[in-house]
Amino acid sequence: MLNIIVCVKAVPDPRVADKIKIDPVTKSLPRLDIPLVMNPLDKNALEAALQLKKKYEASITIICMGPPLAGNVVRECLALGADKGILLTDRAFAGADAYATAYTLAKAIEKNKPVDLVICGMSSSDGATEWVGPEIATFLDLPVVTMVREIVIDEGDEWVVNADYKGGYRKVKLKLPAVITVTRNLNKPRPLSLSGILKARNKEILEWNLEKLGIPRESIGLEGSPTRVTKMFQLKSQRQVQILEGTLQEKVEQLVRILSDAGVV
Ligand SMILES: Cc1cc2nc3c(=O)[nH]c(=O)nc-3n(C[C@H](O)[C@H](O)[C@H](O)COP(=O)(O)OP(=O)(O)OC[C@H]3O[C@@H](n4cnc5c(N)ncnc54)[C@H](O)[C@@H]3O)c2cc1C
Repeated sequence: MLNIIVCVKAVPDPRVADKIKIDPVTKSLPRLDIPLVMNPLDKNALEAALQLKKKYEASITIICMGPPLAGNVVRECLALGADKGILLTDRAFAGADAYATAYTLAKAIEKNKPVDLVICGMSSSDGATEWVGPEIATFLDLPVVTMVREIVIDEGDEWVVNADYKGGYRKVKLKLPAVITVTRNLNKPRPLSLSGILKARNKEILEWNLEKLGIPRESIGLEGSPTRVTKMFQLKSQRQVQILEGTLQEKVEQLVRILSDAGVV
């Protein structure tokens, strides 16, 4: 049986973007009391796992590190068809950079061994470092392919995937167990169904804290994060209106020149 782990991040709901505030001291994004939704690319990651489960015997475990409210996102994954949910939640995990996040996730993945495949989104919509997947692979000493847009061969333990590469793609052979990060081109995530929501009620979400993971406090959260955001500033965008005069031909020529000078065309 394929044991698949999908890492799912709960990110601030973009519909309440005005409520999102950056902590002026830690320069991190407090998520305790803002509505959270599933990171968009993690829907593609879960969909990939669900499609594999349709073809082969497989078990899908969701691992999400976040505040207690992130449990709703894990529940959504269970309603979409995942088998088990693990929410890594502890105040000690807060303020983690990509390194500390990947370390914590890797420790949780280790507890689910033997694992065949770890699927992550290519990036999150809030942090967007794109480091977490490759760093999980490094901590677990597994091969990784990033930006997977197509799974070409998924039989046995030697798979072939196509992954984005500089406007084209590369075909990569991959030996399982492995980590992949996926792009939105991989699939079209399915919508929630009522039967899925009802079935999810009987599925368990495990809550794991620092003690359960059994890792030292100094290697997680803000303390375990080697990167620090030292300064942040808001970009000011200004709009200008310029009325073009002359005949249609002259206006078109002026427009092309202005766009060309601005580096747009
Ligand atoms: C304003 C601001 C600035 C920041 N600057 C930095 C910085 O300079 N350096 C730095 O390292 N971090 C920084 N962060 C850290 C930030 O907290 C990241 O969100 C966090 O480290 C996870 O990395 P990511 O979101 O970039 O993940 P990505 O690597 O972009 O995400 C890829 C995938 O990893 C998985 N994943 C990521 N996070 C989780 C999670 N919590 N639970 C489960 N799966 C997950 C998902 O599958 C996701 O699709 C910053 C955050 C904020 C708000």
